[in-house]
Amino acid sequence: MSTRNALVTGASRGIGRAIAVELARAGYRVLINYAGNATAAAEALALVRAAGGDGLTVQGDIGRAADRERLVAAAAEGLGRIDLLVNNAGVAPTVRADLLESTEESFDRLFAINLKGPFFLTQQVARRMLTQERDAEGFRGRIVNITSISAYTASVNRGDYCMVKSGLSMMTGLFAERLATEGINVYEIRPGVIATDMTAGVQAKYDKLILQDERGISPIRRWGKPDDVARAVRAIAEDRFPFTTGSAFDVDGGFHLHRL
Ligand code: NAP
Repeated sequence: MSTRNALVTGASRGIGRAIAVELARAGYRVLINYAGNATAAAEALALVRAAGGDGLTVQGDIGRAADRERLVAAAAEGLGRIDLLVNNAGVAPTVRADLLESTEESFDRLFAINLKGPFFLTQQVARRMLTQERDAEGFRGRIVNITSISAYTASVNRGDYCMVKSGLSMMTGLFAERLATEGINVYEIRPGVIATDMTAGVQAKYDKLILQDERGISPIRRWGKPDDVARAVRAIAEDRFPFTTGSAFDVDGGFHLHRL
């Protein structure tokens, strides 16, 4: 495969960093977007280079229109063609508040970063992809949205997070339908409980739910790793599923199964 280019949001830490490194192993050049942690972003770029790839880091809050424009301009200048967009950046509520107590401030923050940002970034990147020639595989581009088991699981202490992830899931279907005939396939990956900074504060709770309770919340009884998600993104990035679009991949140790 000749060198391809990817824009990965929130790639300085956690799942996004693992995706950037795995894409580098697959021969991609990667734009590593981050919100504020420049040191973590530089570490991610060093790992990308150690994996045999290359790329650049670009600060930008995907919840802000001006930052999204700057990000796409940096991608155009630094990468040229965009073969893959991974909408990974996302935040959890600062406080896990009951549905009857949760605030408008938290809702607005999650909506801006986890749904409005990815929607308008995808709109801009898709417009660019439409101007690109089809590659040897017949694609103008690929788009992957990192949603969550929260897209369909009701957690009443973070309802805002569930609602925006559910919206991101619908967004996958919308862009998949709109772009299918244009040579752009769109996917959703639903991670289960993954060990990152995002879940560090609730580690004891999930240790119990995954490892100690009689059956565990997932049939595969371990924490997910960022690399578990990254490998799924790589499979899409390498066009292992050419006759699919709008598909959701559950990378969750089997959490999604109804069990009896
Ligand atoms: P994380 O460890 O907290 O890392 C978050 C990343 O997103 C960082 O690179 C951060 O940049 C970046 N980011 C945060 N706000 C941003 C913004 N406004 N604009 C641009 N970048 C921003 O999170 P994670 O666990 O890897 O989660 C990654 C994605 O997977 C999220 O969408 C999350 O909802 C989803 N997910 C996670 C889990 C899980 O169990 N961890 C499960 C299901 C889904 P800085 O380093 O600059 O702060």
